[in-house]
Amino acid sequence: MTIYRPISPAQKTNEMFVLSYKVLNDAIEYICKNYKIVGCSDALFGNLYTNEAITENTGINSMRIFPNGTITPSPYLPPSVFKSKHHIFDTAVMEYLRFDCFNEVKAPTECIGCSYEKTCQGGVYDRRLLWYGTLIERDPYCPFRHGYTLPKTKYIYEKNENISMYDGYLPTLLFKKQLSNDTSQNTYDHNRVNF
Ligand code: SF4
Repeated sequence: MTIYRPISPAQKTNEMFVLSYKVLNDAIEYICKNYKIVGCSDALFGNLYTNEAITENTGINSMRIFPNGTITPSPYLPPSVFKSKHHIFDTAVMEYLRFDCFNEVKAPTECIGCSYEKTCQGGVYDRRLLWYGTLIERDPYCPFRHGYTLPKTKYIYEKNENISMYDGYLPTLLFKKQLSNDTSQNTYDHNRVNF
């Protein structure tokens, strides 16, 4: 599952497909309850709903290479604004491909004191940049922006190496259908979690 980003040049399309906080959270909760989480690289939703500490990957473990050699941090961030100063044909040294704009990003002020300040750290970079144009802002889907508290139920993240090429680099959520004879509980004992 990939959450829609407002990347269409047609504003109407974005308005039509950008999910509200409530619709998105209801959907994620429903899926977490009824399916097994097998991949979760979204720094916000991974920390909110799973028993794992998830950190951001955009521009760190991800990049997009265009046919002309232009490099951007992720498929969601347009080259007109987020193009790397390096070109894929200029360098064969991967370490130069790190995006300077993601060096030493600090959690936004509003995140200080949040239980996930050290892991979520303000949420997914591309959403913050696309919605607000700056990493000073926290994720548009942070519950505190919408008058909600942190979700109380956690779900077990069944880590599965190589589940998908999308796992561990883009903020993608991957789920697996539960077998009908699988009676294992997929909620996590949140008494063990420090809210
Ligand atoms: S306050 Fe910040 S760290 Fe906490 S959930 Fe919201 S975006 Fe994440």
